[in-house]
Amino acid sequence: MANGKSFLIDTTKCFACRACQVACKQWHELPAEAVVPANRGTYENPPNLSYSQWVKVQFKETERPDGSMAWNFVRNSCRHCIDAPCRQAAENKDSIVIDAETGAVLFQESTKDESYAKIRLGCPFDIPRQGPDGQLFKCVMCVDRVRDGLMPACAKACPGGGITFGDRDEILQIADERVQALRAEHPDAQILDRRDVRLLILVADPAEMYSLSTRS
Ligand code: SF4
Ligand code: SF4
Repeated sequence: MANGKSFLIDTTKCFACRACQVACKQWHELPAEAVVPANRGTYENPPNLSYSQWVKVQFKETERPDGSMAWNFVRNSCRHCIDAPCRQAAENKDSIVIDAETGAVLFQESTKDESYAKIRLGCPFDIPRQGPDGQLFKCVMCVDRVRDGLMPACAKACPGGGITFGDRDEILQIADERVQALRAEHPDAQILDRRDVRLLILVADPAEMYSLSTRS
């Protein structure tokens, strides 16, 4: 695998158009779900990840110490963790496979025989969701496209350059250079969980100023 693949999610370039959400639904032919219209105090839509919603842009409004307003957007989806804690939580390790070529963490049909609660609790980012027949779902890194030399659908669709995908070593270099360039104006710029995940999220404000999902 060499070092496999990775994404750089540059939140400084995301303007929450949600093209990634639409592209993912279209490519994987994920069914729409009925969502009852309601004012939930946010422009986010749909309300959360689900078995048929594998990526979602999350919004957070906060105030910076200088009194300026921050309205930050961050994509939520599987991080394709290097050690895959979800897999460690599985009874049958064959039900969650780490793809040899890309490093993508892939849920198999046999996840329907796993304990949903255990797998979901095992994920530090609260990502797995259960479908109607019990199978668990999440982002699959578009491995079908990647094996054919194509970009993941979400990366291809992003109009702002907020999603970069490629060989991990190259993506790490791009990420580190981008952080260095941002630090003059944004001293808190960093890559979250840099060593542990393949979905590298770059934030410019402190991490607590983003709506980042965790299991706690
Ligand atoms: S983010 Fe969660 S579901 Fe995805 S690989 Fe990591 S532990 Fe597994
Ligand atoms: S990589 Fe593919 S499966 Fe994952 S969020 Fe992007 S479009 Fe969806």
